[in-house]
Amino acid sequence: MFENLSDRLDSVFKKLKGHGTLNEKNIEEGLKQVRMALLEADVNYKVAKNVISDIKTRALGQEVMESLTPGQQVIKIVYDEFTRMMGSKHQALDLGTGSSGSIMLVGLQGSGKTTTAGKLGLYLRKQGRTPFLVPVDVYRPAAIDQLKKIGTQLDLPVFDSTPDMKPLKICQDAQIAAREQGCDTLVYDTAGRLHMDDTLMAELETLKKGVSPSEILLVADAMTGQDAVNIAGSFDQRLDLTGVVLTKMDGDARGGAALSIKAVTGKPLKFIGVGEKFTGLEPFHPDRMASKILG
Ligand code: GDP
Repeated sequence: MFENLSDRLDSVFKKLKGHGTLNEKNIEEGLKQVRMALLEADVNYKVAKNVISDIKTRALGQEVMESLTPGQQVIKIVYDEFTRMMGSKHQALDLGTGSSGSIMLVGLQGSGKTTTAGKLGLYLRKQGRTPFLVPVDVYRPAAIDQLKKIGTQLDLPVFDSTPDMKPLKICQDAQIAAREQGCDTLVYDTAGRLHMDDTLMAELETLKKGVSPSEILLVADAMTGQDAVNIAGSFDQRLDLTGVVLTKMDGDARGGAALSIKAVTGKPLKFIGVGEKFTGLEPFHPDRMASKILG
C-alpha cells in the first residue's frame, strides 16, 4: 500500500531536510516533486493541484515552530494537508440510535461486495452487535450461495434468499426474520453488474427507498484507481452514499483512489479491505494513513 508514493516522498524530503534554511525556490522545487509523486500515485489531478497549492500557501507563510527544522516544518504541513485531503477524521459507521440498523452494500460485480459483507459481519460482531447477512443478488444464484457459505464459515446468520424472490421482498422479509432471530444489524449484499447501468441503479434506488438503510456503502476495487473514484461519483449521484469501502488495498501499490475519493466525491472512506481473509477489513483513519505514507 502506497509503497511507490512513500519512496518518492522520502527522497523529496531527504533533499528538503538537507537544506539548512528553506527559501521559496527550495520549497517550490520540493512541491513540484510532491505533485509529480501524487500524479504517479494516480491521484486525481485537480485534487493534487489543490493540495499542492494549499501546502505551498502554508509553507511559504510558514508559522515558525522552533522545535522543528524548516524541512521538518514542510513535512508537517504535507502531513496535515494529506490528512485533510483524505477526510481529516475517521468516520465511524452510523447505525442510528434505534434498536436496529442496516448497511446496504452496493457496487460493481467483482469489487468485493460479498466478501465485504462477511468481513463486516465479523467486524460488527466484534463490536458487540448481532449481524444478519442478506443475499439480494437474485441474478446470480452463485452469489447467494457464496454468502450462505460465508455465513456458515463465520457462524453468522444469513437470510434464506432464493433466486425466484424479488429483491425488495427479500429485504423486507429479512427485516422480519432478523427481528425474530434477535439480530440488530442487517447487511444487504445487493446485485452488481460488470458496468454501470440504469436498470441496476433504478433497482438500487427502489431498494433504498423501501429499506431506508442507516448506511449505504459503495464497495469499490482500489486497484482500479481513478475508475473507482468515478464509479463512486456515479453511485453517489443516484443513491447519496454514506461512505465508501475500498477493497484490495493490499494489492494497490499506488493508492490514488484512497487519496482522492473523499476530495472528489465528498463521501468518506470508512473502511479498507486489506486481504482476502475475513479479518482483512480495517476502519480507515486519514491521519494514520498520512503517517504511513510519510513514513
Ligand atoms: P463481488 O462480486 O463484488 O461480490 O466480489 P467478491 O466478494 O466475490 O470478491 C471478488 C474477489 O475479490 C474475490 O476473489 C475476493 O476474495 C477478492 N477480494 C475481496 N476483497 C479483497 C481484498 O480486500 N483484498 C484482496 N486481495 N482480495 C479481495
